[in-house]
Amino acid sequence: MLNTLRRIVQEVNSAKDLITALDIIVQRVREAMGTEVCSVYLLDPGSSRYVLMATQGLNKDAVGVVSMANNEGLIGYVGAREEPVNLEDAAAHPKFRYFAETGEERFASFLGVPIIHHRRVMGVLVVQQKERRQFDESEESFLVTMSAQLAGVIAHAEATGSIHGLGWAGEAIQDTRFDAVPGAPGVAIGQAVVILPPADLKAVPDKHVKDIEAEVLRFRSAIEAVRQDMHDMSAKLSTQLRPEELALFDVYLMMLDDAALGNEVLAVIRGGQWAQGALREVVNAHINRFEMMDDPYLRERASDVKDLGRRILAYLQEANKEERVFPDQTILVSEELSPVMLGEVPKEKLVGLVSVLGSGSSHVAILARAMGIPTVMGAVDLPYTRMDGLELIVDGNHGEVYSNPSPELRRHYLEIVREELELVQGLEKLRDVRCVTTDGHRMPLFVNTGLLADVARSLDRGAEGVGLYRTEVPFMIQDRFPSEKEQQATYREQLEAFHPLPVTMRSLDIGGDKALTYFPIREDNPFLGWRGIRVTLDHPEIFLVQTRAMLKASKGLNNLRIMLPMISSVYEVEEALHLIHRAHSEVCDEGMEVPMPPVGVMIEVPAAVYQARELVQMVDFLSVGTNDLTQYLLAVDRNNPRVADLYHSLHPAVLQALIKIATACREAGKPMSVCGEMAGDPASAVLLMAMGCDVLSMNATNLPKVKWLLRQISLSDAKALLDEVIGLDNPHLVQSTLHLALRNMGLEKVLRQGR
Ligand code: PEP
Ligand code: MG
Repeated sequence: MLNTLRRIVQEVNSAKDLITALDIIVQRVREAMGTEVCSVYLLDPGSSRYVLMATQGLNKDAVGVVSMANNEGLIGYVGAREEPVNLEDAAAHPKFRYFAETGEERFASFLGVPIIHHRRVMGVLVVQQKERRQFDESEESFLVTMSAQLAGVIAHAEATGSIHGLGWAGEAIQDTRFDAVPGAPGVAIGQAVVILPPADLKAVPDKHVKDIEAEVLRFRSAIEAVRQDMHDMSAKLSTQLRPEELALFDVYLMMLDDAALGNEVLAVIRGGQWAQGALREVVNAHINRFEMMDDPYLRERASDVKDLGRRILAYLQEANKEERVFPDQTILVSEELSPVMLGEVPKEKLVGLVSVLGSGSSHVAILARAMGIPTVMGAVDLPYTRMDGLELIVDGNHGEVYSNPSPELRRHYLEIVREELELVQGLEKLRDVRCVTTDGHRMPLFVNTGLLADVARSLDRGAEGVGLYRTEVPFMIQDRFPSEKEQQATYREQLEAFHPLPVTMRSLDIGGDKALTYFPIREDNPFLGWRGIRVTLDHPEIFLVQTRAMLKASKGLNNLRIMLPMISSVYEVEEALHLIHRAHSEVCDEGMEVPMPPVGVMIEVPAAVYQARELVQMVDFLSVGTNDLTQYLLAVDRNNPRVADLYHSLHPAVLQALIKIATACREAGKPMSVCGEMAGDPASAVLLMAMGCDVLSMNATNLPKVKWLLRQISLSDAKALLDEVIGLDNPHLVQSTLHLALRNMGLEKVLRQGR
């Protein structure tokens, strides 16, 4: 059963459009189940009617014609119940309704299952038979499994059709919305530029070209290059491989022939598709054909074709590298945006970012916030490979992407862009004023940095120090560990730029979602694995080099603070402190007189919350990493868009944890800071201040907004607000109560703007 399922899903996945996908479904499901009828009805959200979209066994003329209201007939009944309906005699059911056009009166038994994607009923998949019988359990579970797998495929096919402005019912579509998660605040309107990972066939977008002959030439020279590689490799290996193994190269060479794969690709190019797109289409069709074969030898050939396709693609992409021209308003779209990709677009042209994978707390989103680029993450249903060149709207406030914007929607978003700009300009004058509440409470606002680019932006916005310098960022953009001297130079720049303001440097925090290409960590469960302090304590040489570099960099400046990430036990702090003292005496032994810097512990793990009292005794300050703390307290992966709506820093459990940490710090007389993204959310900042937080550290973009809000409110009002929300048991309620109260005080201007 699993094989059949996999084969059908694969075939459906490669269908060129929704209608073809549905036709394949009904044909294959009917064959696999041996029924007389298989049909798919899709729910048209506009009219709220189920439309017969594909059938095998019913009258084909009824396709696209027969439809029923969403509460009508057995189809409506399946959709409304959201579970399978299995009937021996359909006509005897009170919900049965007869549609003359389909000719279904001949069929007695009926099994219908809903097609549900992300809680939305998209349609109903039905099999029918003349014979009066109940479908058995295994048939029912086959159809349920099939439908569950197909829901995503159908949603994807539907979305792919709609980005070009056409719905499945043939109607013009505007304002197609793709839901994702907010990555970096702000709104952008621009043109999509799809960035491909190197030689990934799956990720090649469609692109229509005018100069067909140029594409033909590019393709031919890529083929030639691969052909030459094959000859060379075959010659090189001829002494090590047996002749029958070398025959593999002949198979490759044959496939490259004009008469085989080559000609098919050329035909697609002649239809106006660029070489990469044509290659993807043809290679995928071949792969699918091979993968569907039962013979294992032939199935194996699928991987040869894939390999060949990648090799040709690598040459095509190389040839294309130089030519990329970015439009003035570039919206970078990629399956998985990486920090490196941001560097590929000229800064003044990059207006927005869209990543199919990842979430608001992914590293790239954190960088985007630092750079002030509106970003949307986790747009899992976005048919991104087909979006190159399209006009898009990125709503980083709500985590939404729109294609085919209507004039009204475009106007609406242009207005938001204008308002944002005005707000930022209006806040510029706040740069040199201190963050003091109306009743005189002083709240220092720090920034989070990583790139040197952050420095100027941060100082421009009146940052009073760095609460979190993510040292892994300079490590991530290298291809080897930076030496002690290189690190020292990088850290010196940060320390000097902010001097005399304090700079809190975090020891290397890799693992989880932060990978170094030259130090790969492969784990099934990386967020619960080897990350942060766990890695650096296991590699004291890395920790010592880094600490020495920090200490040396601080010579004569004395504004360094060191902070330890991912602490879950007191003995980790003991070990780390021991290493820091050792590094300090080594530096002093080298003749460099630097004072021992203040050291702090990050509270990111529930265990650390419960041991906050013990931990704070050991160090000079605590700093709460609310991004990880929320993830671990709520058991919600911060990078998984499927559970992104469960990730909520205003969850009552997170608020209780923060209060516990604040109490521990107050009792010990030591400062508490918050450096997770929560500190940069103006409304949340009010609560953090009320809890007794001594420093809030955030991305530079949000700093002026937080400052503005805290300067409009009194500490006693903030405390009253905290008292009001702390009794609530639901994160949404906390948020809406908080926002409503701030709105009622006339402070809505810095709350996230509504659609
Ligand atoms: C955090 O976890 O809140 C934090 C500040 O660290 P990072 O986002 O770099 O994991
Ligand atoms: Mg963290």
